[in-house]
Amino acid sequence: MLTIDGSYGEGGGQILRTALALSAVLERPVLIEKIRARRRNPGLQAQHLAGARALAEIAAAEVEGVAVGSVSLRFAPARIAAGEYRWDVGTAGAISLVLQTILIPLALAPAASRISITGGTHVPWSPPFPYIEQVLLPILEGMGLRASLTLKRWGFYPKGGGLVEGRVQPSSLHPLILSRRGRPVEIVGLSAVAGVPMRVAERQRDRALSRLRPLETPCRIEICQVEARNPGTILFLLVECEGVRAGFSSLGERGKPAERVADEACDRVIAYLEGVGVADPYLADQLLLPMAIAPGSSSLATSAVTEHLLTNRWVIEQFLPGRVRIDGGLGEPGLVTAG
Ligand code: ATP
Repeated sequence: MLTIDGSYGEGGGQILRTALALSAVLERPVLIEKIRARRRNPGLQAQHLAGARALAEIAAAEVEGVAVGSVSLRFAPARIAAGEYRWDVGTAGAISLVLQTILIPLALAPAASRISITGGTHVPWSPPFPYIEQVLLPILEGMGLRASLTLKRWGFYPKGGGLVEGRVQPSSLHPLILSRRGRPVEIVGLSAVAGVPMRVAERQRDRALSRLRPLETPCRIEICQVEARNPGTILFLLVECEGVRAGFSSLGERGKPAERVADEACDRVIAYLEGVGVADPYLADQLLLPMAIAPGSSSLATSAVTEHLLTNRWVIEQFLPGRVRIDGGLGEPGLVTAG
């Protein structure tokens, strides 16, 4: 059985998600030890557990150590099977990170599946739903993934309760080449609030429009008020360039002015457009797994080599030695290749 050291590198939840997904896809049992050893609250938390349980169900895996706080998990998969799946993170843990665990394996099942996941949809330290829908999925579709996801209910921290439903069709992945960022064409944003006055959404939008105006790229930002179990706000900005899309967001919280929410997202957009990278800093670590699995040669130019990316490469290396390569130093633009 392959043993993975969960404390390696950045030592977070990503090691677990990538290791489990690869274990299921390659039908290779894995033991992950020292899970999230470098975090303040080590071991499996609700979101990680939900992902592990969901994948165990899909892959009919025998598992040991699936409990909150567990620092060791043994996962022995059988075959990945399509089905009608319903999972509930039980907290505001990110639905997008459950998807990061199960989406690629499920797409390799021999038949179509329906999925329904309850949890956080716009929560810190994870891709918010618009990022999945507008940045990640279109690229994965370009690689052959056939999946559609719909946001049915919004879920902010701390109560969650959001709902994403989707359909995943049998897919065969092909290589990705993401090497060119042309001229910025448009910035399209969404400023959304739940349980706070619409005025807050307007302030997020207005500040963002004034920060982005000097870029001289056409920019439009919609505002909306949504239902959720507890108050929350988000500003999401999709940057559409010739050849690539990038997504940047910021979440509101109690005591954080709407203008600061806007500034955080805009600072990221401006840094990206002033830099030379093609993929935004979040994309590369999320695409490394499909790049490694897709037969043939893939390459992606990233705007920043992150700890997440380096750690993820190491996990993949344990399963598929020599398959993925990263050129470029931490924090610098880099080139990611598979093949
Ligand atoms: P831990 O709590 O152990 O840090 P985790 O499971 O909560 O782990 P990470 O390992 O930090 O999560 O991984 C977070 C994932 O979310 C990464 O794939 C990262 O690229 C992505 N991500 C984080 N913030 C954003 C964002 N604003 N937009 C898009 N993706 C994001």
